Amino acid sequence: MRKLSSRSESFTDSVIRRMTRISNEYDAINLSQGFPDFDPPKAITDRLAEVSAEGPHQYAITWGAKNFRDAVAKKYEHFSGISIDPQTEIVVTCGSTEAMMATMMSIVNPGDKVIVFSPFYENYGADTILSGAVPIYVPLNPPEFNFDRKVLEDAFRQDASAIIICNPSNPCGKVFTQEELEYIASLAIKYDAYVVTDEVYEHIVYKPNRHIYMQSLPGMRERTVVCNSLSKTFSITGWRLGYVIANPEIIERVKKVHDFLTVGAAAPLMEAAVTGLEYGDDYYEELAAHYAHMKEIFVGGLDKLGLKYTDPQGAYYVLVDVSEFGVKDDLKFCEWMIRNVGVAAVPGSSFFKENINHLIRLHFAKNDNTLNEALRRLATLKEKATNAENVEWR
Ligand code: GLN
Repeated sequence: MRKLSSRSESFTDSVIRRMTRISNEYDAINLSQGFPDFDPPKAITDRLAEVSAEGPHQYAITWGAKNFRDAVAKKYEHFSGISIDPQTEIVVTCGSTEAMMATMMSIVNPGDKVIVFSPFYENYGADTILSGAVPIYVPLNPPEFNFDRKVLEDAFRQDASAIIICNPSNPCGKVFTQEELEYIASLAIKYDAYVVTDEVYEHIVYKPNRHIYMQSLPGMRERTVVCNSLSKTFSITGWRLGYVIANPEIIERVKKVHDFLTVGAAAPLMEAAVTGLEYGDDYYEELAAHYAHMKEIFVGGLDKLGLKYTDPQGAYYVLVDVSEFGVKDDLKFCEWMIRNVGVAAVPGSSFFKENINHLIRLHFAKNDNTLNEALRRLATLKEKATNAENVEWR
């Protein structure tokens, strides 16, 4: 048989999503792929029930139903202070996964260099490969996940066409400061590069940290491509509702790519989700408080168990340090942990370009009962891992 495409050959399947499948096989508590086990707001699901009777059930305008785009624009202006034209500056996509892919296809030529901070959300690796870009990785150095300004400038100097920033950051929980964002913006302007932001955790930030919108910085309105989604904000990861916000010239391209990739996001789901987009500030305050509560239960529990971890400033992941168990292969360790401890994590190596094997990522977007049960199981980790014999991961 003929060979298949070399593009799709060079990356693996998503380890995050693979861990979910293994977790399901062993009926473990799945703290690997980040999604909540609690329901979306009832008003949104009630609205979905109405929509199932009333419609729409046919295609919306390919770049998104007008009322949905209007609602996104209004919410974005409320939080970022930036007013955008919902007709020419937004494309609604199937999750921010498509938003990012369509963005890359729209702004990058094969062979172009794209700066990616490491650790990074694993999709960015595949996105760069599929769009033909060559990633330049710039380390965010643990435990603070700061970057070296000189290393970053060196990366820009290599004629990078864009930089991808996940803020708040998956997997390390970093929330970029105003000063850091201003520095990145100054380099993007100096070296004429686009800044692609993944801001899906914009409302999951722990005090006193604060989310700053890259697009709101001087000179960045035209140069920033915002990728976002409703998945995390409204606990509807399965609805696959995302969007791109950018200047009209970029959006014109993204519209075309999106049109041929997926035609459009699900019309009934857009209609129902407008209910959420119209919520007032109370909703976002409650969401942040709920996540602060889940974080407190989970990291408080890890403290009691004497496990070392990075305390996130935003998003809902912790990187737990498992070096004390002599882990050499973190993927095998995570598989072992699913079978022997009953808790699923993502091996840290799937996020780092550097050779890092001593971190595993757990998330805490879960009900109190789920978190407490996960902690009860994790209480056996130290003993089981320390005493484990003939394991493939050591
Ligand atoms: N962002 C989530 C994570 O990192 C998962 C997203 C996805 O699988 N599409 O686990």
